[in-house]
Parts: sequence; C-alpha cells; structure tokens
Amino acid sequence: MPEATDCSGRTILAVFAHPDDESIACGGTLARLADAGARVVLLCASRGERGSISDRALVSDGDLAGVRSRELQEAAGILGVAEVLLFQHPDGDLRWADVPQLHREIVSAIDRVRPDGVITFAEDGLYWHLDHIGVHERTYTAVRSFGDDAPPLYYVTMPKGIMRDVVDAAITNGLPDDSSLWGIEPDAFGDYAKAPTFVVDVRPWVSRKLAAIRSHRTQIGPNSPFKRIADAQATELLGFEPFRRAPTMSRWDSVIEQLGERVVSS
Ligand SMILES: [Zn+2]
Repeated sequence: MPEATDCSGRTILAVFAHPDDESIACGGTLARLADAGARVVLLCASRGERGSISDRALVSDGDLAGVRSRELQEAAGILGVAEVLLFQHPDGDLRWADVPQLHREIVSAIDRVRPDGVITFAEDGLYWHLDHIGVHERTYTAVRSFGDDAPPLYYVTMPKGIMRDVVDAAITNGLPDDSSLWGIEPDAFGDYAKAPTFVVDVRPWVSRKLAAIRSHRTQIGPNSPFKRIADAQATELLGFEPFRRAPTMSRWDSVIEQLGERVVSS
C-alpha cells in the first residue's frame, strides 16, 4: 500500500476535454492528492454536449451539456476537487475551434492558481481522440509559455490492454459481450502511449475513482463495463495510473512525482 504523503499547501491543475475524462484517466491520483491535502483544480474545456446518452430519461429537457455539467460537479465532489473551471468550447471540435481562447484560458488558470504541477492527456489522447489531443496541445503550449517559471507538466496515459481487461472482467460478471464502450475499440486505449516514467498507486482510492466514473450516468449506463466491474477487479485493473513528465523547461520538483513509483525500463 502507498505511503502517506503530505501535500498540504500544494496545488495541482488537471486539464481535460470532457466531463468524465478526469475520473477515467486519473481519478485515483486526483483523490489521493486531495486526501493528502493538495488543492486540486480541474479545468474542463467542454461540457460534452455531443456525448452519448445512456438513458434518455436522464436528459428529459434535452440539455445534455447541462446534465453533464452537473455530473462533473458530482464526480469532482467525490474526488475531492476543490474547484472546477468548466468552459463551453465545442465538443468534437476542440482541436481546431477557439484555439487562441482556450490557450489564454489555460494560461490564465495557471497564472491564477499557481499550480505545483499540471496534468493533462499525453500525445495519444488516451485513444487518439482528437479533442483529447487538442487539449494536450493547448496545455503543452500554455505551460511552455511560462518558460523557466513553467510548472512541471505530466501526461497521463492508460496501460496498454487495460480496457480490454476491464471489458473481459465485466463480461464474466454478465455484461452482454456485444456491449459498446461508447463505440470505441477497447484495445485502442493506451495502444500507442509512450512508456510512463512513473506510476501512482491508487488502489485504496479505486472505489472513489469508480464512484466518480459512475456518477457520469449519461456516459455510464447499466451495460457499461465500468458499471459491471466489481471492486476487487477494479482495484487490480485500475489501481495504478501511469504518468510521464513532459519535456518542458521546468526545473521544479513536483508533488505528483513524489506520489509515484518510478518505472524501471527493462
Ligand atoms: Zn473525453
């Protein structure tokens, strides 16, 4: 089990594209940081209005963006996120729309909250999702614009093959084997992610990570693998979150690296 780390007085800024990215990508790390006393600030670039809808009754007024905004607030509460900065850039077009504006918003968030570390997607956008790649690009350039004062930037990925294992575990629990993971091939998750430089052990936080993921109810219906996976399976499969420190100019040490166990490449 991971050692307790004191992160009081530290701030972490996590930058993602849609409500649910934060919980799926690194909900365990965010909860662990918050429990250790860090102020966790989440910037979400869109309200996810083009996402799937697991149950029409959840969006009876047709306002998916509004429902997903509330789901995000609920997930953030479960994870211990102190502040959510939710923007309304167009879901599905984050790589090309409003580029200067999103850049400025990330810069001004860094300027205001003075994070000790910034987390975002890696180059692979978890599974080559273009919105995720766009947020990766905007965050990289925003952090880089601070030059020597830039906080360390961390890219979160998913272990290769892990979503296939999650789906297989859920199938053993009765998930229909034609269930869809938002139409995404499970093997795409993490398939081309560069090797992490450290992993964060979040096994004691997996139940909260799972609860946060499931609070995105429009995305996680009864036949979602995340709904059908048991706690013990989730602890085994989702209990380590991989990160890589980005090659920015920063010379700072980071609170996030202190939580991590270095990956020794063989
Ligand atoms: Zn997303």
